[in-house]
Amino acid sequence: VSRFEGITMAPPDPILGVSEAFRADTNDLKLNLGVGAYRTEELQPYVLNVVKKAENLMLERGENKEYLPIEGLAAFNNVTAQLLFGADNPVIQQGKVATVQGLSGTGSLRLAAALIERYFPGAKVLISSPTWGNHKNIFNDARVPWSEYRYYDPKTVGLDFNGMIDDIKAAPEGSFILLHGCAHNPTGIDPTLEQWEKIADVIQEKNHIPFFDVAYQGFASGSLDEDAASVRLFAARGMELLVAQSYSKNLGLYAERIGAINVVCSSSDAAARVKSQLKRIARPMYSNPPVHGARIVANIVGDPALFKEWKDEMELMAGRIKGVRQKLFNSLSAKDKSGKDWSFILKQIGMFSFTGLNKSQSDNMTNKWHVYMTKDGRISLAGLSLAKCEYLADAIIDSYH
Ligand code: PLP
Repeated sequence: VSRFEGITMAPPDPILGVSEAFRADTNDLKLNLGVGAYRTEELQPYVLNVVKKAENLMLERGENKEYLPIEGLAAFNNVTAQLLFGADNPVIQQGKVATVQGLSGTGSLRLAAALIERYFPGAKVLISSPTWGNHKNIFNDARVPWSEYRYYDPKTVGLDFNGMIDDIKAAPEGSFILLHGCAHNPTGIDPTLEQWEKIADVIQEKNHIPFFDVAYQGFASGSLDEDAASVRLFAARGMELLVAQSYSKNLGLYAERIGAINVVCSSSDAAARVKSQLKRIARPMYSNPPVHGARIVANIVGDPALFKEWKDEMELMAGRIKGVRQKLFNSLSAKDKSGKDWSFILKQIGMFSFTGLNKSQSDNMTNKWHVYMTKDGRISLAGLSLAKCEYLADAIIDSYH
């Protein structure tokens, strides 16, 4: 008898489990709209040309595989903070940002969660309802208490702005408020700049600490600066804040696990201390981060020609997604005779569309139509081609009615 008899089977991950089920389906019509990974119009994975160029450069230079410092590659940490805040931002100029390279977005969020657990005992993190499924896992595993603030309004398929403000106001003073910097996952609904200002107002009033998750910078609008507007608006108020970054989507570096945690402090002194503690948390967890993705980012951003090429490719990816979004809307509007207003699809931004399909309707999408998606009704438009829009529209209409 096994010494591990007491260990029960863990449930499959609600997002990555969708890909497992997809792989097992042998039907030719099958479509994987579960995981948020960019595909070409031919539905193939895409390695950016600029990434291949950077990798060739790295090979030519014969770079070694020595350990990185605990905090990661210095050149990467510099450029990642600059991309986020803008190179001439006073928080950078004055050394107020503690930046530590993390294991992509997830690992960077996890480092921040550990910092909160250790230095803000009992403090709560407020997360949006709904949010990316892994947020709850991250804070649970870090033993950080969390609760939800209202975000999505099913009646309007839009933002429940008043609910959001009321819940942030009602949270215990000094809570951490987790915000999606752009392209909210799973809803695709972002606050306007005016709404961001009001959100910043209540966070300041209540002495809360904003905690941004930026997983889609440049991917939502096609512009790195535009997608960082929310974070920069908070930083410009002189607020202390946390920002986790990921290069999975915008550079297509999913498996390289490259990202960062940035903590903006009110003094350079505090930033130095925070950084030292982030390193202390990282050391016994994974010791130091992988170098390959960090070098790719540093090489691309550090070279004006490559940087421009990246921006062009990002625009191309964002543009393809906007194209399928439009085509899906057109197909739904033309095919659906029920009079339902599908314009919410066009209002959403980023990689996803929140269809409003419930669990049993989502099950119908998968069981009858071989369309794989998460059970909250989210579909990844990055996994959709123009050629498949009509088929998907048929599936959605059949599942709705
Ligand atoms: N945060 C959000 C909101 C996301 O959607 C994702 C990826 O789907 C991540 C963070 C982190 O992804 P990764 O760990 O691959 O950077």
